[in-house]
Formats: sequence, C-alpha cells, structure tokens
Amino acid sequence: MNVIKRPTRLVLVLALVLLIALPIAVPDSQYEQSVLLWCFLFAIMASGWNLISGLAGYVSLGHSVYLGIGMYTGAILAKTWDVQSIYLMPLGALVAAVVALLIGLVVLRTRSHSFVIITIAVLLSFLLLAANLKSLTGGSDGLIVKQPSWAKELGNTPYYYVLLGLLVLTIALAAFVMRSRLGAGLVAIRNDEGKAASIGINTTVYKVTAYSLSAVPFGAAGALWAQYLGFVNPIGAFAILASVYLVLAALIGGRGTLWGPVIGGFLVALFQEFSTRFSGGVSSRVLIMGVILILVVMFMPSGLLPTIKSAWERRKARGSAVKFIDQASIAASTTEVDTSAIASRVVHRGDAPENILEVRDMVKRFGGVTAVDGVSLTVKRGSITGLIGPNGSGKTTLFNCITGTYEPTSGEVVLTGHDITSAKVWSRAHDGLGRTFQITRLFKSMTVLDNLVAPLERTSPQEMVAGRYSGEEVDRAREVLAFMGLQEFEKQNAAALSFGQQKLVELAQVLMLRPSIILLDEPASGINPTLIDKLATVIRKLNEAGTTVLIVEHNIPLVLSLCDHIHVLAEGKILTQGTPAEIRNDPNVIEAYLGPDHMVEAPNA
Ligand code: ADP
Ligand code: MG
Repeated sequence: MNVIKRPTRLVLVLALVLLIALPIAVPDSQYEQSVLLWCFLFAIMASGWNLISGLAGYVSLGHSVYLGIGMYTGAILAKTWDVQSIYLMPLGALVAAVVALLIGLVVLRTRSHSFVIITIAVLLSFLLLAANLKSLTGGSDGLIVKQPSWAKELGNTPYYYVLLGLLVLTIALAAFVMRSRLGAGLVAIRNDEGKAASIGINTTVYKVTAYSLSAVPFGAAGALWAQYLGFVNPIGAFAILASVYLVLAALIGGRGTLWGPVIGGFLVALFQEFSTRFSGGVSSRVLIMGVILILVVMFMPSGLLPTIKSAWERRKARGSAVKFIDQASIAASTTEVDTSAIASRVVHRGDAPENILEVRDMVKRFGGVTAVDGVSLTVKRGSITGLIGPNGSGKTTLFNCITGTYEPTSGEVVLTGHDITSAKVWSRAHDGLGRTFQITRLFKSMTVLDNLVAPLERTSPQEMVAGRYSGEEVDRAREVLAFMGLQEFEKQNAAALSFGQQKLVELAQVLMLRPSIILLDEPASGINPTLIDKLATVIRKLNEAGTTVLIVEHNIPLVLSLCDHIHVLAEGKILTQGTPAEIRNDPNVIEAYLGPDHMVEAPNA
C-alpha cells in the first residue's frame, strides 16, 4: 500500500522545493529562516513523539527530555572535544535512543494516566540532574556552546538546511515504521494491548522499540539546537512547556497520522512566533494555547487532518451507501470455496502429544473470591472438548489463566508437553495456543484484513521491519477469510461488522497463527442461528483438519452435538466430566446447571 497518494505527493514536492529555494532565492530571509527553524523543530519533535504516543497510544507528556539530552550531549562533547555541536547530531540521536531504551524498559510497564505522570517525572528528574551535576553540566549556570566556523554571511542558513534534512529523515522514519509490521503492531497495541499479546505480538519489544526510536529525532535535533542557541541550561533544555507544545502540535494536526504532527508542528511554531510578536508576554501565549487545546480536544478530538479527511470521505461516499452484506449471504458464500482443502492448509504443525493441553490444580483467587478452585483437566489431541457451567462458575477465568492473561494463584499449564505456566501471553500464542474472547476484541480502527495480518508467526527484527503486507501473510489472510466466508469484508472496518461477524473475524485472526489448540469462549452467544450453524461447520472442518478445540458455550444442543468430551464446572470446581451422553443424563449436572427442560431443543443425536 502506498502511504502517500499522488496529489499529496505533488503538494509535498512543491513545499519541499519552496523550502529549499527560500534561502537561495531570498538572500535577505534570515528572519523567515529563523521562524521556519522553529517550525522544523516542532514538526520533528511532534513526528518523533507520534511514534510512541500516536501509534501505540502511550501519551508521553515529557518527551522534550530527549531534546534536552541531545542538547547536553552536543554541548558537553563539543566542549570536551572542541568540535561543533552540529557535527555531533548522530551522537545526540544515539545517546537519546539509548537513554530512552533504558527508561522505556521501566516506564512502559505502566499505562494510561500513570504513564503520563511518569513521563513528566522523568523530565523533571533530568532537570534536577542537569542542575546538580555541576562538573559535567555547569549546573544551573549552564554551558556556553562553541559557535560555528562558517562564514558570518551564511547566518543561520546551514542550520536551516540541516534541520530541514532532519525533518525529511524523520518523516521518512515515521512512514517506514507505519507501513511496517512494527507499525501495525503498535496500532494493535493502541487498540487493545491484551488482545495484541494474545495473537502473538510481543508488546514489550514493540513498545520499547517505538519509544527508543521516538527519541532519535529529538536527540539529533538537540545537538543542533544547542549550537543554534549557543547556550544550554537546565530550564531551557528540559522545559515542560516544550513538551506541552509538541503534544499540542500532534493533537492539532492529528496524532497517529503521518502528516498530522508535521502540519501541527508548523502551526504551533507559527502561532508561537506571531503571538510573541503581537501579543507580548509568555503568559498570554500559554493562555491562548490552553484555550486552543481545550477547543481541539472538544471539537476535533482526532485532529485537523483526520477531521478533514473524514469530512472529505463522507462527501465522496454520499449517494453510494455503505454496502452491508446480510448474514444469510455470507452463509451461502462458503459453499463456493473448497473449505476442507483450506482447513488443512490453515491448521497447525505436525506432531503433538496425546494430551495436547493439561491443566493441573489450577487456583485463581481475586481477593476473597476463589474463581477457579483446584481445576485439573486434560484436553486430548484432535478432540473437541466442552467446558460448561453456570455463569460465574469460573470458565473465562480458567481460560485467562491458561492463556496467561491472569497469573494463576497456583497450578500449572502444560501445552504440547511443555510447561508454559510462566510464559508470556504472546509466546503462548506462538506455541500454538489460540483464543477467542467472550466479548470480541478486534482492533476496531483497523480493516478486517489488517486485523488478520497483525498476528505474527515469528518475532524477529527482520519480521518487525518488514512491510505489513509483505510475505505470504496477505494471501493466507485472504484464504482464511474465504474459508470463513468473509472475503467481501476484507476492506471494511472491523467496527462496522455485526457482532456475529466480528466473532468469525476473531476466529479467522486466531487461525493466522496456525494454532494447535483453540480456546473458544462462548462463540455462539449473541449471534443469529444462521451464523451459529456456520460456526459449527467451521469448527468441525478445522477439527477434521487436525485442530483441537476447547469450547465454553451455553448453547447446550450445540455443545452436545459438537463435543467428544465435556467438563462441567460449578463454583470453580470440576463437578463432573464425560461424554455428551453421560453428561446429558447425569443427575448432578441436571440439578446444578442444565435444568429439567434442557433437552427440549436438543438435536437428534
Ligand atoms: P464465567 O466465565 O464462568 O461466567 P468468570 O470466570 O467470568 O465466570 O467469573 C468467575 C468469578 O470470578 C465471578 O465470581 C467473577 O465475579 C470473578 N471474577 C472474574 N474476573 C475477575 C476479576 N478480574 N476481578 C475480580 N473478580 C473476578
Ligand atoms: Mg465467561
């Protein structure tokens, strides 16, 4: 997919040519250049910030700390080595990236509000550090930075070109990340981090990588900026206001987009310049910025660019009503493809031991509530095993302990002979454990196809930088969609589908990892009878092709007709287990769960 469309490309080339031509065509443009330097700086910072805060949704309110780190790296090394700080931009980038990597490993363990507050704390810590490490930083007096050796007549023009170059590189980096699997994974994390992990995305590596990368443009710009200002002190280098402005820039332009932060950066820098010239002091400027921020958040929460884009698309779409394909036609469409052949291609890997999944003495307590109370169960390879029980009996909690979403209070999980009790959620997904959720958890801002290509079969650096539509994943995703009869929905937003369709997409998503066992949590609840039949067909086909299934379901006729073996859970304990015939006639089960009328709608066995 091309990130930049043709008319946009034309505008961009034109803008770049104009920016390059300005110092040459208008020799007397030092003032304009100095204003544009601020524009470049803010656009660079907002684009860098966007990598972690826009894509992954981890909003950092202290990101200018990495500009400060770049400035001090430049200033200190320029003094030590007696060179110009501008030459030290790559080092500034490197130091910022390494510091961000270390900080990221710690701060990215927190989320949402705690993360925001911690990022501010990080900025303030560096402010204090710079003020107190007098021998290195000159304390609060700061450091004078060696001035350039180029001819005086050149003025700020060299800074102008170098920073413009850095802006182009930063946008290129952002574009590269966005079209890579790393970018897709980050957006998945923003949508639903737990779900992202459950389909095999190593969320820690993704977040830390993005956080570290996001510091690179800051660090590089900092080394230049130190020399441009000629002076570095703690308050200037680690200014919280700079962080607020750059967040504002990204929000105004449109966070999570490629060009939004760039446009926002220019707007904020221009606003800063004009408000200083025409309205006087800093305080009135901050006040106006505050008002703008409130207005943006209230009326344009997704930012300028996405708002314009969606208005434009709405205009274009008027008349051609969105095509909703009814569910009956999906059910019909499956007959056109050879689903059995596809099923054998989508299923997992070779050999697994006879007991594909073993749960031993699993206990999970929430405070005083014991949701799972010493459950042991075995799932046989190639079986469809049922897990039934009244609401609140601990079925979902057991699933969460098996998949690693919850850490069990005690007990063990053994998957294909390996103890995975302490493995991470994403690594269990790679080991062949697939799982769907009771309430579907798709990435709502992504298309159906993107939802399917987001899971990763491997996690290596090469895999992360590969294009998100590269490799055979797209072909396989389309094949899986065809298998589920969902091929028409490929380009639809996942959020636009019905609840039942979303459940099928979620199953398709899990199939992308070629799981050896799939845990289905109430797949038939809340979906219409046509889709239930279809779902049963899909489950049977997958099972015939070699996939093991563990299914939680309240639709007893469905469970009785699908399963080879059934476990009954009540109040966190296994009440009994057996074949469908045994379960149907067990008086304890009838009393605890099924009730005397349970056979009324059961199919002929
Ligand atoms: P089921 O899926 O069988 O309907 P659950 O596993 O969702 O049941 O819930 C079992 C019990 O555990 C319930 O009493 C529920 O309130 C409790 N529970 C589940 N998740 C949590 C949680 N995150 N915190 C506290 N209690 C929980
Ligand atoms: Mg449940």
